[in-house]
Amino acid sequence: MSEIKQKYYEEGRELSVLYSADVVVAGGGSAGFAAALAAARNNAKTVIIEREYAMGGIMTTGLMAKVAIEPYMEGIPTEVMMRLGKDKMAIPPCAFPPKCPVTEMTEVPVDPEATKKLLDDMLLEENVKILYGSIVAGVIKEGGTIKGVIVESKNGRQVIEGKVFIDATGDGDLSAHAGAEYQIGREEDGMCSASTLMFRIGNVDIEALIQHLEKHPGDLMRGGRNMTPQQIRECVFGNPPQYAHIGGFNETIRRVATERSFSEWEWSVLSSRNGILVMNLPNANQVLVNTSRILGKNAIDVHDITDSMLEGRKQCWFIHEFLKNYVPGFENAFLMDTASILGIRETRRITGDYMHTTEDFRKRIKFDDAIMKNTDSIEFHNPKGEGTAFERYKDGEYEEISYRSILVKGLTNAMVIGRCFSADQLALSCNRSIGFCLSMGQAAGTAAAMAVDGGTDIRSISVIELQKKVYPQKFQS
Ligand SMILES: Cc1cc2nc3c(=O)[nH]c(=O)nc-3n(C[C@H](O)[C@H](O)[C@H](O)COP(=O)(O)OP(=O)(O)OC[C@H]3O[C@@H](n4cnc5c(N)ncnc54)[C@H](O)[C@@H]3O)c2cc1C
Repeated sequence: MSEIKQKYYEEGRELSVLYSADVVVAGGGSAGFAAALAAARNNAKTVIIEREYAMGGIMTTGLMAKVAIEPYMEGIPTEVMMRLGKDKMAIPPCAFPPKCPVTEMTEVPVDPEATKKLLDDMLLEENVKILYGSIVAGVIKEGGTIKGVIVESKNGRQVIEGKVFIDATGDGDLSAHAGAEYQIGREEDGMCSASTLMFRIGNVDIEALIQHLEKHPGDLMRGGRNMTPQQIRECVFGNPPQYAHIGGFNETIRRVATERSFSEWEWSVLSSRNGILVMNLPNANQVLVNTSRILGKNAIDVHDITDSMLEGRKQCWFIHEFLKNYVPGFENAFLMDTASILGIRETRRITGDYMHTTEDFRKRIKFDDAIMKNTDSIEFHNPKGEGTAFERYKDGEYEEISYRSILVKGLTNAMVIGRCFSADQLALSCNRSIGFCLSMGQAAGTAAAMAVDGGTDIRSISVIELQKKVYPQKFQS
């Protein structure tokens, strides 16, 4: 699209104050939700500003409804899984209610609609002020201190004042508006990991599908989690059920390719993820599909994000038609929904007082001011084509995240959390799971409330007191 040179100038105008809070959270994804909840639970008057009309971000509106969580992610991450599991709206790794749901890193599929309702309920229980349909469009700053954020909503353009501001927009919008430094994409060409539009299929006959896998083991998922058809059956229909990676379908894709010709586009859709990734969901006969792949786009550019949604929906419908036409069990299935927001793995990474690096991951780094630990693997989705690069931890190994990597460099009262926290590109790829974002949000919200309560700034709080609240494992060796 050619750039239009003509420019217009907006007249200066007075902005009314919509709300005044102690802690202002921008973005209600998993990180922002947990930050707002933790701040309110620590007695801060808290507001959360969300562009969409539900909490959860990529987990819910983005339909990436499978939470990677670790046993030490105590507090809010565990609480959310337990409350969903109790209502059978999460596929628990063991019967609910156990003391702690997990004994090792696990993946918990959740029902996205039930999750939206639960996250609303949890915030309302703590009197968090929720503002939906509101986009953070600017900031009011005095020197290095943010006084308020400018919000655009149906009410127009207004200001929300606060003492501590937490950027949980995923894209670092608040920090970028405040002039913070950031990086985006690969050093050599600025390219970000591929994005994915998620979708759900309903009315799948999963038993028929498993019987097909028994006859055609070449259709099982290969790489990562290799499950036999019988293990899949036990996971899907067990009491309690467990997460199962059902798909792959590479044998069918190859067979169909000999019977009909695929266009280049069709072949790239079917081949770029090593098959079709299908997994079970808490509600019977529903599956989640994580397969579309959108390459070479910048998800903070309006043209690229529009093109990504158009391309993503086209890919989802094609994949759905393929399954319906060629894979037993999908004959009477229907496409329930495509995600209403794009599954963006990364955009801006805001520069903090400290930047978490790939070297930190490889050295299994520990910090005196750690706010959490993590054992997730590097998972970098090729921005230009096929393939995903992995690098994993061995059992018992972990890295820690420094408090300084959520403090925005150059701003006295701003934090940045979730998939836009201060990390290099590969380090972010192993530190962005939903469990991780919930934990990081919990730490940030707690720290923000401590600063407000103590009448101090976010760099002067007692990190040891913060660790006792959010990372007690630091003291257990
Ligand atoms: C395809 C895909 C597969 C993944 N697989 C897994 C997996 O299997 N398990 C796992 O645990 N994790 C997985 N992840 C990672 C994980 O889902 C995300 O990293 C995580 O959900 C990010 O959470 P967040 O809160 O940082 O950001 P987001 O979820 O992006 O939330 C940001 C929120 O801010 C809002 N917002 C944005 N800009 C503004 C603004 N200017 N004003 C107001 N609101 C704004 C958005 O609407 C959104 O609600 C996957 C991610 C993708 C994309």
